[in-house]
Formats: sequence, structure tokens, C-alpha cells
Amino acid sequence: MKKLVVLALSAAISAGALAQTFPSKPITIVVPFAAGGPTDLVARQLAEAMRKPLGDANIIVENAAGAGGTIGAGKVARADKDGHTLLVWHIGMAATAGLYRKLPFKALDDFEYLGMINDVPMTLLGSPKLEAKNYKEFASYIQANGGKLNLAHAGLGSASHLCGLMWQSALKLDKAMTTIPFGGTAPAMNALIGGQVDVMCDQTTNTVSQIEAGRVKGFAVTTAKPLSDNKVLKDLPSLQQAGVKDFNLTIWHGLYAPKGTPAAVTKRLNDALKVALKDPEFIKRQEALGAVIVTDNRITPEGHKTFVAGQIKSLSAVIQAAGQFAD
Ligand code: ASP
Repeated sequence: MKKLVVLALSAAISAGALAQTFPSKPITIVVPFAAGGPTDLVARQLAEAMRKPLGDANIIVENAAGAGGTIGAGKVARADKDGHTLLVWHIGMAATAGLYRKLPFKALDDFEYLGMINDVPMTLLGSPKLEAKNYKEFASYIQANGGKLNLAHAGLGSASHLCGLMWQSALKLDKAMTTIPFGGTAPAMNALIGGQVDVMCDQTTNTVSQIEAGRVKGFAVTTAKPLSDNKVLKDLPSLQQAGVKDFNLTIWHGLYAPKGTPAAVTKRLNDALKVALKDPEFIKRQEALGAVIVTDNRITPEGHKTFVAGQIKSLSAVIQAAGQFAD
């Protein structure tokens, strides 16, 4: 009995000591997409906001793009379980569970869920070469020319892929657009601006500045209601409003560590995340890009995991109905 008490006591002391000494080296946040894209931007702004609550930690963002985010996620699942390698990912954490029959990780078993960051609507975009002036003209052009057009996305299982799939299946095109995968929507956006591809659906965190500068055409937002508070997107209709029945897609981003990271460390990371989510500067920067900082139960590790489990179920049903697999 005495021995057990001593063991429990020393475990508590070492967990406490671990929390005190963490981080003991730079923290790397892996973004599973190309630099300069929307997930990258969320991760970089978050890294800045988490720095102080982690005792002026050095937080580096590393881009590990490929296969719709699954390569970078697999890398974090296999990383050292010490809290120094983290993942910022999005709805792909849930969508890829339905889209891929084989993955280098298990979404619910191989990560410690640290919490959710934000909800981000998506925007349906066209290249500046298209003549369409509004969603109605855009949709009829796509209906008439679908088979000749290219839809860019960030790889199979990415948010842009999922959104494109859902939108195309709602339109019931005679001939689907050809989908063109990129390592992230930063390079895909360049191709859209240059007119090498015709259509893309992307997080508002990547589209607001491009629409504002007139480099691409924004046609609709994917949330049920228009984003009337956003200065750049306020005049775009929601897809539902524009006649695409029941369309409602919001992308979220979350923060994860490899499964087995000590509880004292994950607690310290979750505490730092919560402080970051209340940082007025972080909130202001995110809101300007159409993102909504999460304040509900999904910011807790358990709440976020329960939410992702629900998303896996609902998205798998959508994906199965569309009859698509990535592999
Ligand atoms: N927006 C991307 C996606 O479609 C990923 C990215 O480049 O951030 O998933």
C-alpha cells in the first residue's frame, strides 16, 4: 500500500515537473498543405498567439504537403510523443476517414485532441477570365461547359475537394469538371488567378484578400446564410439562397498531438490554446478573414474529439452517397 502511494506521488511530481519544463525545445506545428494557403495562415497566426502562454516558446510551422493532408497527418501520428510536434488540420481529419480506404493513421486512435480553433466558411470562386457576373450566370456556364472545365483542389480528401464534390453532385452536371489536385490551395489559387484552372472552392481565410484585390471572382459562400458582417464577402449569396438546396458546409481547424503525449503536456497545450483563442489580436485577424473563433465545448479535448467522431459519421455518409473514394 505504502509503495503504491509513493509511486502515485512520484508520478504526480514528475507530471508536474514535466509541465514546468515543457517546452524544452522549439515546437513544430506541421501543416499538411503548401505554405501560403488557408490552413498555413491559421497555423501561423495561432503559433504567434500560443507563443506567450507557452512561456515565449519558439514555435515553428513546417509544411508537409501531399495526398490531401494525409501525409503530414501521418507524420505527426508517428512523431515523438513529447508535445514538440503538433498538427493543425481541418475537416480533412474527418473527411479522409470516409474518402480513403487505407490511411497512414487512425483519426480517432492516433492523436491526442488538443482542441478546436475556428469555424471557417468556404467561398466558391471562378477565374478572372470567366464572364459570369453572379452565381446564376456562373452556374449556367458550368452546367453548359462542365466537361471542358477544371476544378482545382488541394488533393483528394482536402476541404476544397470535398466542397467541389458536394457542389458538383448538387448541380447534377451532365459532365463533371476535371479535378486537378495541388499540394495546397496556395498553388491552386495561383493557377486560378492565372486562368489555368476555372473553378475552386476554398476557405475564406484564403479568398477574402484575393476577391478584394479583384484577382479572382467570388460567386457564393457555402454557409447556410450569407456572411453579412464580412466587409468583402457580404454581398455574395449563400449557395442555399442561390438555389442549391440544403447546401451547408463549414470548415473547422483543430490542433492535435501524437497519441501517448503525456497528459501534463497536453493540458499545458490545451491551456495555451484557450488563451490564444481569447487573444483580441488573434480574434481580430481571424474575423477579418471570415473565420469564427470557437468558444463552445469543441475547444476542450473531449468536446473536439466527440465532434470529430460525429463529423466522420456524417461526412462518410455524404461521401458514400457521392460514390467517391480517393484510393
Ligand atoms: N484549403 C485547402 C483545402 O482545400 C488546404 C490548404 O491549402 O490550406 O483543404
